[in-house]
Amino acid sequence: MISMRSLCRHYEMGDQVVKALDAIDLTFQQSEYVAIMGPSGSGKSTLMNIIGCLDTPSSGSYELNGSQVADMDDNQLARIRNREIGFVFQTFNLLPRLNCLRNVELPLIYAGVDADERIERARGALERVGLGDRLTHKPGELSGGQIQRVAIARALINNPSLILADEPTGNLDTVTGNEIMSIFGELSSAGNTILLITHEEDIASHTRRIIRLRDGRIEHDTAQQEQPS
Ligand code: ADP
Ligand code: ADP
Repeated sequence: MISMRSLCRHYEMGDQVVKALDAIDLTFQQSEYVAIMGPSGSGKSTLMNIIGCLDTPSSGSYELNGSQVADMDDNQLARIRNREIGFVFQTFNLLPRLNCLRNVELPLIYAGVDADERIERARGALERVGLGDRLTHKPGELSGGQIQRVAIARALINNPSLILADEPTGNLDTVTGNEIMSIFGELSSAGNTILLITHEEDIASHTRRIIRLRDGRIEHDTAQQEQPS
């Protein structure tokens, strides 16, 4: 579903060129569960931004679900972001005054979906992450792990084929972080492709493939044995 060939992202800083990504070749199949690791400055965020259609490569090709993304304009990028990709962040970015249902339905309001369908789909997404009994709670009435599950439900609401998560367990304790990784594992088994950035080996060990970046290049790309979680 994702294919990158000789993908580069360079930044020109005065007379210096920073090669944030340098000739990346990568392929991801539907339903993969992947951790992206590497030291600070190795290109993880740049790679996620390009995969997430928030940024475009300087050169090389990037194909997502059959579309060439590398040549798209901002409108086309926005459309593909909304339809095909769900984003989850380290800080949860929920609105504190809105309850879980209202937070999760937000992307559907922007998409012009009518109210009854919005509530039904938000309820379904919250049930998928095990929060069917917290629909009218507000973020302040939930634990950190529950809040991140609401954020995952919101990322799922448009049925994206791809979920991108930047340090999704970075603000969570170990047990709660493991729970979130189990939810991602279930989603990938159900057909979603999950790519996440983490710097914690324990968190990465939940995934089925670890890509290690260094200086904008792929240092290791390793398939993992199935882990009990
Ligand atoms: P950003 O998205 O702001 O570029 P990163 O995605 O590189 O940041 O990292 C997210 C968070 O993880 C940051 O708070 C960063 O300080 C921390 N982090 C990144 N890499 C490491 C590492 N190797 N060891 C410890 N913390 C790290
Ligand atoms: P990571 O997420 O692994 O910490 P980044 O993808 O954020 O790494 O950064 C990769 C390299 O690209 C770093 O050397 C960083 O300084 C550089 N870089 C990232 N964004 C910019 C930018 N907007 N302008 C100039 N250089 C950048």
